[in-house]
Amino acid sequence: MTTTQARTFESLNPATGDVVATFPVHTAEDVNAAVEQARAAAPWWRELGYDGRRKRLRAWRTLLVQRSDELAELMHRENGKPVEDALGEVVLAVEHLSWAAANAEKVLGRRRVAPGMLAMNHSASTTYVPYGVVGVIGPWNYPVHTPLGSITYALAAGNAVVFKPSEYTPALGKWLTDSFAEIVPEQPVFQLITGFGDTGAALCQAGVDKLAFTGSTATGKKIMAACADTLTPVLIECGGKDALIVAGDADLDAAVDATVWGGMSNAGQTCAGVERVYVVDALADEFIDQVVDRARALRTGAHAAADVGPMTMPSQVDVVRSHITDALARGGRAVVGSLDSVRPPYVEPVVLVDVPEDALAMTDETFGPTVVINRVRDIDQAVDLANASRYALGAAVFAKARGPELAARLRAGMVSINSVLSFAAVPALPFGGSGDSGFGRIHGEDGLREFARPQSVTRQRFRQPLRPMSFRRGGHTVRRLLRLVRLRYGR
Ligand code: NAD
Repeated sequence: MTTTQARTFESLNPATGDVVATFPVHTAEDVNAAVEQARAAAPWWRELGYDGRRKRLRAWRTLLVQRSDELAELMHRENGKPVEDALGEVVLAVEHLSWAAANAEKVLGRRRVAPGMLAMNHSASTTYVPYGVVGVIGPWNYPVHTPLGSITYALAAGNAVVFKPSEYTPALGKWLTDSFAEIVPEQPVFQLITGFGDTGAALCQAGVDKLAFTGSTATGKKIMAACADTLTPVLIECGGKDALIVAGDADLDAAVDATVWGGMSNAGQTCAGVERVYVVDALADEFIDQVVDRARALRTGAHAAADVGPMTMPSQVDVVRSHITDALARGGRAVVGSLDSVRPPYVEPVVLVDVPEDALAMTDETFGPTVVINRVRDIDQAVDLANASRYALGAAVFAKARGPELAARLRAGMVSINSVLSFAAVPALPFGGSGDSGFGRIHGEDGLREFARPQSVTRQRFRQPLRPMSFRRGGHTVRRLLRLVRLRYGR
């Protein structure tokens, strides 16, 4: 991605440097105009109702499936990931789109609730009303699955969406909005704006009713500050420093496989990827030997058989290099690769061991195909160290006997037991973190509710003899109520 002139920028193939496409740098006026158009389109989309929206979203799903090869090929060119991984990303996105379309009405539609003792003469219900216009700002690492985790749920809930993809993956953003417009040509329900941070900042100020952000913690803080001006609610999905812990009774082969896949797939550019591994001492030597063998076998490049593609964002290479340098300077050892593994635009797999817990590679998100393995005396120490991070996104546990107990003790929004990242494949499961990983949830019922406001309604069915909320209430009304309350709760 390079700036060619003030008003446009180019998206580049990270492996070759070839131009993928040129896009406008949208100004605040452009962004305001898009939000205005979305505001006009939102009532039409909302009025389609759950049924009408479900039909459109299912038709879009069919189109995504039919053109999955085309989308994956574009992802390979613009983001750099291997085509097979890109296809896997499309599959994930389609599964989530499908779930959101199928479940929006069940989750958000009107539901009756018990009126309780004080309002027994009323019926009570609640329903979820779409916000109106949702702004979505996305990252480049999963340029289809990640933003669609907000976009498809927001659309299913009845909102119009204005989407600003990462400046590293605008062509994919355009592919998504163009394909949606083929299915929904009547109104600009899902629009694209392109540009850098300033364009994103303008979206925060453009009067959207909610802003869903996925990206780095540093930008998440800026987004929240910008949205504070107008009390615009925000959903903040940021980075992670996820741990995988290996107990003494773990299936070693599965834990090794998960470490290598969780740490190195997508060139390690996965928010909930494995960055830290804590393995109990008794298993550590064998575990490390096997990780070394498998990590060494990975092929790096842009060719069809590559397992690890180029780094999408050139500046991330410097972050990865600095983490390896710091880890080695502090006494860590590289058992796979070395500083020489950093060969822009590629980083070949690096496995580090015995890295001090206060090294950058243990405290900060590395976002490259590197993983640190540290030994622990027992699984309790593994849990303590896993939890001692300012991030809290996902985690993985490998244990036969105590998996659920260990999972419950981990400070993480999602935990997979005896696998890695599986939670991302279950659309019914909410996804998100706490601490420096952000707040709020995409996916699942919570992910639908993020994009709608509850509206509660009571309807009086008959008049009660006791009417405490009236100046015409009798002198003893409240005392009589209190007697009832004492009977019920006072003993
Ligand atoms: P980034 O923060 O650099 O950029 C994200 C988006 O924010 C881009 O579209 C960018 O243009 C925009 N932006 C930048 N400055 C802005 C500003 N001041 N106001 C508004 N918008 C602004 O992040 P990135 O490098 O694109 O993405 C990688 C990060 O995303 C990693 O930290 C990764 O862990 C995280 N991530 C998190 C999740 C999750 O679900 N938690 C998923 C994928 C990626």
